Amino acid sequence: MAVACLAVPGWAIAEACDDSAWPATLAARALQFPVDGIRPETVRDTFLDGRLGRRHEALDIMAPRGTPVRAVEDGKLVKLFESKPGGLTVYQFDPAGQLVYYYAHLDRYAEGLHEGMQLRGGDLIGYVGTTGNAAPDAPHLHFAVFVLGPEKQWWKGEALNPYCAWRAAR
Ligand SMILES: [Zn+2]
Repeated sequence: MAVACLAVPGWAIAEACDDSAWPATLAARALQFPVDGIRPETVRDTFLDGRLGRRHEALDIMAPRGTPVRAVEDGKLVKLFESKPGGLTVYQFDPAGQLVYYYAHLDRYAEGLHEGMQLRGGDLIGYVGTTGNAAPDAPHLHFAVFVLGPEKQWWKGEALNPYCAWRAAR
């Protein structure tokens, strides 16, 4: 799938996100912003940045450690996973089971969070941190969206850039 939504470097969501400029799969949705107290228009588009020889394929949303992280929409929490790069992570399907939302570097999970539970958009899932390979002095949420394959494997999918998802929230 073509990666769109990369016209303007950083900052200016309004200019970068006209209707033709980003994945239709995401354009049809009203994703909530996942980090409390941060203005969406201050998030830089880091989707195409290089990270250790790979494309980043995610957004880094900088925020103080301990800031609440919330589900971007309804859907099933399919996996709580701790990995070397991602640290404490959450994988959530969208309601139709077409997309998986990935939240990484969490400081800790929300109380009572468990695999298989149904999340509502805005539900607390955890707190911003630096677990995994995030720099200790740069807490952030690493947020990614993947299109699931036919096998619906939570760890496999093609990345979509969610940068334009919150233009309506400006
Ligand atoms: Zn990242």
